[in-house]
Amino acid sequence: MIVDTIVQPKIQPELLSAFSQDEFNSHVMTTYGRFNLALIKGEGCTVWDTNGKAYLDFVAGIATCTLGHAHPAVIEAVMAQINTLTHVSNLYYVPVQGELAKWLVDHSCADRVFFCNSGAEANEGAIKLARKYAHTALKIAEPVILTAHASFHGRTLATVTATGQPKYHKNFAPLVPGFHYVPYNDFAAIESAIAELDGRVAAIMLEPLQGEGGVNPGQIEYFQQVRKLCDEKGILLILDEVQVGMGRSGKYWGYEQLGIEPDIFTSAKGLGGGIPIGATLCKASCNVFEPGDHASTYGGNPFVCAVALAVCQTLERENILANVQSRGEQLRAGLQQLAAKYPDISEVRGWGLINGLELQADSKINAIDIVKAAMELGLLLVPAGVKVVRFVPPLIVSELEIDKAVSILDRVLASV
Ligand SMILES: *Cc1c(COP(=O)(O)O)cnc(C)c1O
Repeated sequence: MIVDTIVQPKIQPELLSAFSQDEFNSHVMTTYGRFNLALIKGEGCTVWDTNGKAYLDFVAGIATCTLGHAHPAVIEAVMAQINTLTHVSNLYYVPVQGELAKWLVDHSCADRVFFCNSGAEANEGAIKLARKYAHTALKIAEPVILTAHASFHGRTLATVTATGQPKYHKNFAPLVPGFHYVPYNDFAAIESAIAELDGRVAAIMLEPLQGEGGVNPGQIEYFQQVRKLCDEKGILLILDEVQVGMGRSGKYWGYEQLGIEPDIFTSAKGLGGGIPIGATLCKASCNVFEPGDHASTYGGNPFVCAVALAVCQTLERENILANVQSRGEQLRAGLQQLAAKYPDISEVRGWGLINGLELQADSKINAIDIVKAAMELGLLLVPAGVKVVRFVPPLIVSELEIDKAVSILDRVLASV
C-alpha cells in the first residue's frame, strides 16, 4: 500500500519533550484556536510532534516553506549569513538586499522593491504607495481603494480594513477610511463602484487567486477587463501575491496565470522559505516614494535577504516550477477521483500547488472535520473557510508524497 512506501526516519529521542498546553496558554495570548498538536522538527515535507509521530506536511507553515523543512540550501545560507552579519538597518547600504531586489526585478514585471517583514506589512506599503500616488499624481484628495469580498490582506488596521470579510472587522472599529468592497470576479460591480465613487477610486487591490477566502482562482477575462479599465482611467492595479506568488501557482507570479501585469504587487509567505520577509514591488511609473516616506527597521536585513535569495536561486536552479506544475496536476487528478467517489465533495480547484477541495454547502461535514481526521492519520491540511480544505505543500513535494496524501484523504473521506 502506498501509505507505507515512504520510510520516515525516527526522531532523535532528546527532542521529545513533555509539552504542556496549559503552561503555553497561560503565557501566550490566545489569538489562535490551535490544533492539539505541538511540532518540534521538520525535514523535507515531513514534520514531527512532541511524541515523535511523523506527519506529511501539506500546510507548509501556511504556504511559506517553499523548499520544505531543513533544506540544505536554506541551512547553508542561514549559517553563512549569521556567521557574517545579521542586521545593520537601512541607514546603510545592504548589498545582499540589492541582489535580492535585482533577482525579483529580473523575474517579474516590477522595477523597484521595498522590503519589510510580513504580508500585511507588504500590503500596507502598497496601500501607502497608492495613496501617495493618488495625492501627488492623480490629485485625488480622498482616495478610495476597491477590494473584494472574501479577500484577505492581513491583520494590521489598514489591511484588515482592506480585507473584505466582516468577521475580521468585528470589534475593531473605527476602521481605516478609504476602502470600498466589490464582489470578486464581477467586472460590472467594479464599473458601478467606480461610477458611484465619482473620480475617487485610486486603486483596485485584488488577489490573483483568493487563498484564505476559499482557494478561488481569478478569472482571466475579469482580470483583463480590470486591467484595461485601470489603464483607461489611470487607476492603479495592486495585486496581493502574498500567498500565490513565488512559484506556488506554477509560475513565479499569479498574474502570469491571468495574462496581465499589475502596477504594484506584494510578496511574503513563500519568499523567505520560512524566514519572515515581505516585499512591496512596483513599476517605475508609480515609484513615488521618497526618502522618509516609508521605512522598516528590520526590513531587508542581511540575514533575511541572504536566505530569501537562496530560496529564489534554488527555485530557479532546480527548475522547481516544473515540479509545481506536474505535482499540481497529479494532486488535482487525485482529488478529482475522490470527488467522483464521494458525493460530499462539490469541487476541486486551484493552480499549481495551491488547491482547494470544496464540500457541498449542505454537507454534514465541514473542512475542519476532514483536517482533524487527516491529522490523526498523519497528514496536515488547513481549511480555507468553512467548506474548503486547502492543499499547500512545499513546492518540492514528490510524486510519492502526493500519492500518499491522496490515499490518506481517501481513508479520511471514507471514515467521516
Ligand atoms: C497571509 C496573507 C496575508 C498576510 O500575511 P502576514 O504575513 O500574515 O501578515 C496577506 N495577503 C494574503 C493574500 C495572504 O494570504
